[in-house]
Amino acid sequence: TEATASRPTAASAALFERARAVTPGGVNSPVRAFNAVGGTPRFIRSAAGAWLTDVDGNEYVDLICSWGPMLLGHAHPEVQAAVAAAVARGTSYGTPTEPEVELAEEIVDRAPVEKVRFVSSGTEATMSAIRLARGFTGRDVVVKFAGCYHGHVDSLLASAGSGLATFAVPGTPGVPESSTALTLVLPYNDRAAVERVFVEHGPRIACLITEAAPGNMGVVPPEPGFNAFLAETCRTHGALFVSDEVMTGFRASRHGQWGLDGAVEGWRPDLVTFGKVMGGGFPAAAFGGRADVMSRLSPEGPVYQAGTLSGNPIATTAGLTTLRLATDEVYAHIDAAGETIKAAAVEALSAAGVPHVVQATGTMFSVFFTDPALGAVRDFEDASRTDSTAYAAFFHAMLDRQVYLPPSAYEAWFLSSAHDDRAVQTVLDALPHAARAAAAT
Ligand code: PMP
Repeated sequence: TEATASRPTAASAALFERARAVTPGGVNSPVRAFNAVGGTPRFIRSAAGAWLTDVDGNEYVDLICSWGPMLLGHAHPEVQAAVAAAVARGTSYGTPTEPEVELAEEIVDRAPVEKVRFVSSGTEATMSAIRLARGFTGRDVVVKFAGCYHGHVDSLLASAGSGLATFAVPGTPGVPESSTALTLVLPYNDRAAVERVFVEHGPRIACLITEAAPGNMGVVPPEPGFNAFLAETCRTHGALFVSDEVMTGFRASRHGQWGLDGAVEGWRPDLVTFGKVMGGGFPAAAFGGRADVMSRLSPEGPVYQAGTLSGNPIATTAGLTTLRLATDEVYAHIDAAGETIKAAAVEALSAAGVPHVVQATGTMFSVFFTDPALGAVRDFEDASRTDSTAYAAFFHAMLDRQVYLPPSAYEAWFLSSAHDDRAVQTVLDALPHAARAAAAT
């Protein structure tokens, strides 16, 4: 229930009712349903810049940004114009086009990859990267970390079995044991666990996949040197290092998470997955990497992979226009707005006596409702200590004061270059009220 609700929600509630009759849970992706925070999900009618407008006419500062993609804010005029021009030329041909070449060149220019292949979702990107890693190495085992989300790929919807270094069990009904039987799940930031599985299973390991910096259990930055250690361990054992930058790519920094560690430390992943920002708000994603590995893909090599709408001209135009507009100034702006909001969140939560930990990587950050006396949040077990009841109260108090946070305590708060002083001030004004609401739980 929504104790603080004072804004009209009748139109959203009516749509939700209709939606539930024809769609499981009324939504097309689970977290949108507000199950974690309670209440009526807001149906959004339109968005511009940093603001969302719902079907009841309420306006909100958007701190979800479509779960990452909207780096420039909503309805950016130059992206809109480029998309409109592309639509006027037809929407899909099923042939190669110029925008996909230009977008691939832009990605190769910014990220540690020599060749890329476009797909339509982050899920497809990680699924394909794993198939390619298995095809390239001729091995079958995949290593992942608990709390890292790589989309709803069967073999990656895995929970750790009992004890470390044992093969995983399915994390959801519908995934057969045979799909996760070749997946090893380890605690994040745990070098000893990584060393142990490579000693035990090294010759069978096709790849280790990790979020470049986890953002799907809240933001849990890799400890200094952790990604370098993973890359080196994989290299030693002849496995591929797959860095999932679907969320961090072109968002944590101009060069993604890799711009914050690999580019500085001088190493490169073997394969990288991308999504979100590179699609400019359209369904586009990609995987890329070493030329010799990517050359194993069909039609150059034997590993099959394909897609009717892959490299779609509208999506690639939107992504290309977005990346070209994503200048150093854009990242500096998002960074500054984030610093202001982080500081205000710390101040408000401290004043209200709400235990919290704020963590960031580049421009990405999140607020954990956990006891700071227990230290930094290093892995999924730490993240699981989050007080989701306090977060639910905080979330609704923010929503009531026109700030739309992710409806889950385990998500990054996303900003855009359109988050100007008015939008940031709206967030700052709401924070003390929300902190008191969290304290009252
Ligand atoms: N990898 C990461 C790191 C993600 O954050 C996500 C989505 N949140 C995915 C993969 C899956 O992407 P999609 O939802 O486009 O399938």
